[in-house]
Amino acid sequence: MIDTHVNLHHHLYQDDLEQVLNRAKEGGIHGMLTICDRFGNRDKIMDIIQNKSNFWMSIGAHPHEAKDHLELSINDLVSYSKQEKVIGIGECGLDFHYNLSPHEDQIKVFETHIEAAQDCQLPLIVHTRLADEITEELLKNAMRYKEFPLLMHCYTSGTNLLKSMLDIGAFVSISGIATFKNATDVRENASLIPKDKLLLETDCPYLAPIPMRGQRNEPLFIKHIAQFMAQYFNMEYDDLVDIVDSNFFSLFKKAKIQ
Ligand SMILES: [Zn+2]
Repeated sequence: MIDTHVNLHHHLYQDDLEQVLNRAKEGGIHGMLTICDRFGNRDKIMDIIQNKSNFWMSIGAHPHEAKDHLELSINDLVSYSKQEKVIGIGECGLDFHYNLSPHEDQIKVFETHIEAAQDCQLPLIVHTRLADEITEELLKNAMRYKEFPLLMHCYTSGTNLLKSMLDIGAFVSISGIATFKNATDVRENASLIPKDKLLLETDCPYLAPIPMRGQRNEPLFIKHIAQFMAQYFNMEYDDLVDIVDSNFFSLFKKAKIQ
Protein backbone atom coordinates (compact mmCIF):
# COMPACT_ATOMS: atom_id res chain seq x y z
CA MET A 1 0.00 0.00 0.00
CA ILE A 2 1.08 3.58 -0.72
CA ASP A 3 0.85 6.43 1.79
CA THR A 4 0.11 9.32 -0.56
CA HIS A 5 0.91 12.23 1.79
CA VAL A 6 3.69 12.12 4.39
CA ASN A 7 6.00 14.78 5.82
CA LEU A 8 9.17 12.78 6.46
CA HIS A 9 11.48 15.76 7.01
CA HIS A 10 9.37 16.86 10.00
CA HIS A 11 11.38 17.39 13.17
CA LEU A 12 9.22 14.83 14.98
CA TYR A 13 11.01 12.15 12.93
CA GLN A 14 14.52 13.44 13.34
CA ASP A 15 15.52 10.86 15.94
CA ASP A 16 13.92 7.70 14.60
CA LEU A 17 12.98 8.07 10.95
CA GLU A 18 14.63 4.81 9.96
CA GLN A 19 12.62 2.88 12.57
CA VAL A 20 9.42 4.58 11.43
CA LEU A 21 10.15 3.59 7.84
CA ASN A 22 11.08 0.04 8.83
CA ARG A 23 7.81 -0.40 10.68
CA ALA A 24 5.97 0.83 7.60
CA LYS A 25 7.86 -1.56 5.34
CA GLU A 26 7.24 -4.53 7.62
CA GLY A 27 3.58 -3.55 7.70
CA GLY A 28 3.32 -3.65 3.91
CA ILE A 29 3.51 0.07 3.16
CA HIS A 30 5.71 -0.15 0.09
CA GLY A 31 5.65 3.42 -1.17
CA MET A 32 5.26 7.02 -0.02
CA LEU A 33 4.88 10.47 -1.45
CA THR A 34 6.65 12.90 0.86
CA ILE A 35 5.55 16.49 0.67
CA CYS A 36 7.54 19.68 0.34
CA ASP A 37 6.31 22.49 2.58
CA ARG A 38 9.01 25.11 1.93
CA PHE A 39 10.99 25.39 -1.30
CA GLY A 40 14.14 25.68 0.81
CA ASN A 41 13.54 22.18 2.22
CA ARG A 42 13.67 20.49 -1.20
CA ASP A 43 17.20 19.11 -0.99
CA LYS A 44 16.72 17.92 2.59
CA ILE A 45 13.65 15.96 1.43
CA MET A 46 15.45 14.65 -1.65
CA ASP A 47 18.26 13.39 0.62
CA ILE A 48 15.76 11.33 2.62
CA ILE A 49 14.25 9.60 -0.42
CA GLN A 50 17.17 9.58 -2.85
CA ASN A 51 18.19 5.95 -2.49
CA LYS A 52 14.82 4.47 -1.57
CA SER A 53 12.72 2.65 -4.15
CA ASN A 54 9.09 3.76 -4.39
CA PHE A 55 9.65 6.94 -2.40
CA TRP A 56 8.74 10.12 -4.25
CA MET A 57 8.39 13.80 -3.41
CA SER A 58 6.46 16.89 -4.38
CA ILE A 59 7.91 20.35 -4.84
CA GLY A 60 6.19 23.47 -3.54
CA ALA A 61 5.26 25.69 -0.61
CA HIS A 62 2.46 25.17 1.90
CA PRO A 63 -0.02 28.07 2.21
CA HIS A 64 1.19 28.65 5.78
CA GLU A 65 4.60 29.45 4.31
CA ALA A 66 3.35 31.65 1.45
CA LYS A 67 4.64 34.89 2.97
CA ASP A 68 8.21 33.62 2.54
CA HIS A 69 7.65 32.49 -1.07
CA LEU A 70 6.55 35.65 -2.86
CA GLU A 71 9.62 35.39 -5.07
CA LEU A 72 9.06 31.72 -5.92
CA SER A 73 8.70 31.44 -9.69
CA ILE A 74 6.95 29.02 -12.00
CA ASN A 75 10.36 28.20 -13.40
CA ASP A 76 11.76 27.36 -9.92
CA LEU A 77 9.05 24.71 -9.53
CA VAL A 78 9.13 23.40 -13.09
CA SER A 79 12.93 23.11 -13.17
CA TYR A 80 13.08 21.15 -9.93
CA SER A 81 10.16 18.97 -11.02
CA LYS A 82 12.22 17.56 -13.87
CA GLN A 83 14.01 15.23 -11.44
CA GLU A 84 12.92 11.63 -11.57
CA LYS A 85 11.79 11.48 -7.94
CA VAL A 86 9.58 14.59 -8.16
CA ILE A 87 6.05 13.60 -9.14
CA GLY A 88 3.77 16.43 -7.95
CA ILE A 89 3.49 20.20 -7.40
CA GLY A 90 2.63 21.38 -3.87
CA GLU A 91 1.36 21.12 -1.40
CA CYS A 92 -0.07 24.52 -2.10
CA GLY A 93 -3.37 26.28 -1.67
CA LEU A 94 -5.22 28.43 0.82
CA ASP A 95 -5.59 28.14 4.57
CA PHE A 96 -7.90 30.84 5.91
CA HIS A 97 -8.29 29.02 9.22
CA TYR A 98 -4.79 29.47 10.63
CA ASN A 99 -4.01 32.55 8.51
CA LEU A 100 -0.26 32.10 9.00
CA SER A 101 0.29 34.06 5.79
CA PRO A 102 -1.76 37.03 4.52
CA HIS A 103 -4.56 35.99 2.13
CA GLU A 104 -3.13 37.93 -0.82
CA ASP A 105 0.24 36.21 -0.38
CA GLN A 106 -1.44 32.81 -0.24
CA ILE A 107 -3.37 33.54 -3.43
CA LYS A 108 -0.30 34.78 -5.29
CA VAL A 109 1.81 31.75 -4.34
CA PHE A 110 -1.08 29.36 -5.09
CA GLU A 111 -1.37 30.86 -8.58
CA THR A 112 2.33 30.29 -9.17
CA HIS A 113 1.86 26.59 -8.32
CA ILE A 114 -1.21 26.29 -10.55
CA GLU A 115 0.73 27.69 -13.51
CA ALA A 116 3.63 25.35 -12.78
CA ALA A 117 1.26 22.36 -12.84
CA GLN A 118 -0.24 23.59 -16.10
CA ASP A 119 3.25 23.81 -17.52
CA CYS A 120 4.79 20.51 -16.32
CA GLN A 121 1.51 18.53 -16.17
CA LEU A 122 2.33 16.99 -12.79
CA PRO A 123 -0.57 16.74 -10.32
CA LEU A 124 -1.24 19.85 -8.24
CA ILE A 125 -1.60 18.86 -4.58
CA VAL A 126 -4.05 21.30 -2.99
CA HIS A 127 -4.59 22.12 0.67
CA THR A 128 -7.70 24.22 1.30
CA ARG A 129 -9.30 25.27 4.54
CA LEU A 130 -12.12 27.79 5.06
CA ALA A 131 -11.50 29.07 1.53
CA ASP A 132 -14.02 27.07 -0.51
CA GLU A 133 -15.29 29.81 -2.79
CA ILE A 134 -12.00 31.28 -3.82
CA THR A 135 -10.41 27.83 -4.19
CA GLU A 136 -13.24 26.85 -6.51
CA GLU A 137 -12.94 30.03 -8.54
CA LEU A 138 -9.16 29.80 -8.98
CA LEU A 139 -9.10 26.11 -9.88
CA LYS A 140 -12.10 26.16 -12.19
CA ASN A 141 -10.79 29.17 -14.10
CA ALA A 142 -7.33 27.65 -14.36
CA MET A 143 -8.70 24.32 -15.56
CA ARG A 144 -10.73 26.11 -18.23
CA TYR A 145 -7.61 27.89 -19.43
CA LYS A 146 -5.36 24.83 -19.45
CA GLU A 147 -6.06 21.42 -17.93
CA PHE A 148 -3.78 19.80 -15.37
CA PRO A 149 -4.02 16.81 -13.00
CA LEU A 150 -5.45 17.78 -9.62
CA LEU A 151 -5.56 16.32 -6.11
CA MET A 152 -7.54 17.81 -3.24
CA HIS A 153 -5.62 16.49 -0.23
CA CYS A 154 -6.92 15.75 3.28
CA TYR A 155 -10.36 16.85 2.23
CA THR A 156 -12.38 18.50 5.01
CA SER A 157 -14.05 21.31 3.09
CA GLY A 158 -17.61 21.67 1.86
CA THR A 159 -19.78 19.49 -0.36
CA ASN A 160 -20.20 22.18 -3.04
CA LEU A 161 -16.46 22.56 -3.49
CA LEU A 162 -16.08 18.77 -3.53
CA LYS A 163 -18.65 18.39 -6.29
CA SER A 164 -17.19 21.14 -8.41
CA MET A 165 -13.69 19.72 -8.03
CA LEU A 166 -14.92 16.26 -9.06
CA ASP A 167 -16.58 17.93 -12.07
CA ILE A 168 -13.22 19.26 -13.23
CA GLY A 169 -11.58 15.85 -12.84
CA ALA A 170 -9.97 16.09 -9.39
CA PHE A 171 -8.90 13.14 -7.30
CA VAL A 172 -9.70 13.56 -3.59
CA SER A 173 -7.74 12.24 -0.65
CA ILE A 174 -9.13 11.34 2.76
CA SER A 175 -7.00 11.36 5.92
CA GLY A 176 -7.41 9.97 9.43
CA ILE A 177 -9.78 12.83 10.25
CA ALA A 178 -12.48 10.62 8.72
CA THR A 179 -12.07 8.22 11.66
CA PHE A 180 -12.79 10.93 14.26
CA LYS A 181 -16.12 10.56 15.96
CA ASN A 182 -17.42 14.05 15.15
CA ALA A 183 -16.24 14.10 11.52
CA THR A 184 -19.60 13.11 10.07
CA ASP A 185 -19.36 15.67 7.26
CA VAL A 186 -15.92 14.38 6.22
CA ARG A 187 -17.28 10.81 6.00
CA GLU A 188 -20.39 11.90 4.14
CA ASN A 189 -18.24 13.76 1.63
CA ALA A 190 -15.99 10.70 1.31
CA SER A 191 -18.97 8.64 0.24
CA LEU A 192 -19.62 11.12 -2.61
CA ILE A 193 -16.17 10.53 -4.11
CA PRO A 194 -16.33 8.03 -7.00
CA LYS A 195 -14.16 5.04 -6.10
CA ASP A 196 -11.87 5.67 -9.07
CA LYS A 197 -11.05 9.17 -7.72
CA LEU A 198 -10.36 8.29 -4.08
CA LEU A 199 -6.98 8.30 -2.35
CA LEU A 200 -6.02 7.72 1.29
CA GLU A 201 -3.23 9.45 3.19
CA THR A 202 -1.92 9.81 6.72
CA ASP A 203 -0.55 13.40 6.45
CA CYS A 204 1.81 12.18 9.17
CA PRO A 205 3.13 13.23 11.64
CA TYR A 206 -0.18 15.10 11.97
CA LEU A 207 -3.69 13.71 12.36
CA ALA A 208 -3.18 10.19 13.73
CA PRO A 209 -6.32 8.16 13.09
CA ILE A 210 -8.35 6.39 15.73
CA PRO A 211 -7.19 4.27 17.63
CA MET A 212 -3.88 6.19 17.57
CA ARG A 213 -5.41 9.65 17.91
CA GLY A 214 -3.28 12.02 19.96
CA GLN A 215 -0.03 10.17 19.20
CA ARG A 216 2.52 11.08 16.58
CA ASN A 217 1.15 9.75 13.30
CA GLU A 218 3.27 7.55 11.01
CA PRO A 219 2.84 5.87 7.60
CA LEU A 220 2.01 2.46 9.12
CA PHE A 221 -1.18 3.95 10.52
CA ILE A 222 -2.67 4.30 7.04
CA LYS A 223 -3.89 0.76 7.65
CA HIS A 224 -6.24 2.06 10.34
CA ILE A 225 -7.65 4.59 7.88
CA ALA A 226 -8.11 1.93 5.21
CA GLN A 227 -9.74 -0.46 7.69
CA PHE A 228 -12.11 2.21 8.91
CA MET A 229 -13.05 3.39 5.42
CA ALA A 230 -13.48 -0.15 4.08
CA GLN A 231 -15.96 -0.78 6.87
CA TYR A 232 -17.67 2.56 6.25
CA PHE A 233 -18.00 1.82 2.52
CA ASN A 234 -19.01 -1.76 3.29
CA MET A 235 -16.12 -3.10 1.21
CA GLU A 236 -13.39 -5.67 1.68
CA TYR A 237 -10.19 -4.12 3.05
CA ASP A 238 -8.06 -5.66 0.27
CA ASP A 239 -10.38 -4.39 -2.43
CA LEU A 240 -10.24 -0.84 -1.10
CA VAL A 241 -6.45 -0.96 -0.82
CA ASP A 242 -6.17 -2.23 -4.43
CA ILE A 243 -8.42 0.56 -5.66
CA VAL A 244 -6.69 3.44 -3.87
CA ASP A 245 -3.26 2.13 -4.90
CA SER A 246 -4.22 1.91 -8.53
CA ASN A 247 -5.79 5.39 -8.31
CA PHE A 248 -2.47 6.72 -7.03
CA PHE A 249 -0.70 5.49 -10.16
CA SER A 250 -3.40 6.72 -12.50
CA LEU A 251 -3.03 10.21 -11.00
CA PHE A 252 0.74 10.23 -10.43
CA LYS A 253 1.69 8.81 -13.80
CA LYS A 254 5.33 9.68 -13.31
CA ALA A 255 5.65 7.34 -10.30
CA LYS A 256 7.09 4.06 -11.46
CA ILE A 257 6.98 1.13 -9.08
CA GLN A 258 10.22 -0.81 -8.62
ZN1 LIG B 1 -2.19 20.02 3.95
